[in-house]
Amino acid sequence: MKRFLLVALAVIVLAVALLAGVFASAFVGNAPSQPGLVDGFIHVVNDGYVTANILDTGDGKVALIDAGADPAGKAILAELAAMKLDVHAVSAIFLTHGHGDHVAAAPLFPDAKVFVLAGDVALAEGRAGGHGLITQFMPVKSTGVHVARALADGEVVQIGNRAIHVLAVPGHTMGSAAFWVDGALFLGDSAGASKDGTLKPAPRVFSDDPLENRASLKALTARLAAEHLEVKTLIFAHTGRLDGIKPLADFAAAH
Ligand SMILES: [Zn+2]
Repeated sequence: MKRFLLVALAVIVLAVALLAGVFASAFVGNAPSQPGLVDGFIHVVNDGYVTANILDTGDGKVALIDAGADPAGKAILAELAAMKLDVHAVSAIFLTHGHGDHVAAAPLFPDAKVFVLAGDVALAEGRAGGHGLITQFMPVKSTGVHVARALADGEVVQIGNRAIHVLAVPGHTMGSAAFWVDGALFLGDSAGASKDGTLKPAPRVFSDDPLENRASLKALTARLAAEHLEVKTLIFAHTGRLDGIKPLADFAAAH
């Protein structure tokens, strides 16, 4: 009996350690997020543990890439106020994917059309849940988000003077997208920056299909080159930025 208890205890300790290790890999060694102005037109806003991005579209309006984790949108509204803009200035919101910490403030902007890849429309609106190790247990409830139109892979949406290139990178979620805008590549949760300057894939425990995520990052590298989309800055939702395409190309070469 004593032996059985010892074995059971060892199994439990091992399982907990394994889970803790997998969980820690999502957070340990991440480059801290860097709010501020990037490339002269992107305002990276720190919204707690996630960032949202306000893009100047040159017509007195702005577009958002992701809408943060705060339904009151405090950090986004404060940055808009600093830019002397109000909620009506936001004409479009592009969601890198439908997880709750990327869509929360979207309903605050009455004139904004919300766009997300078709695969994540239900997730963004709160009609479906995630499929990851952890995300499958998160409650499914309406987010108040209404997606104006589902995006298709490869389309280019013109908002003011910015052309937003839509690049599907399924894996973190089914409908995860990267957006390329004038040299900036927004990767959402599909990748992140380590403190040592290397790129890491989407956090395993929060992702639907970690293997597909890695394959998508690899394919994205080749596709950016083929489409002559030059990358100056890699922008992630939960970590700091990286310069140039090299960190992504290095990841692709190693996987
Ligand atoms: Zn996510």
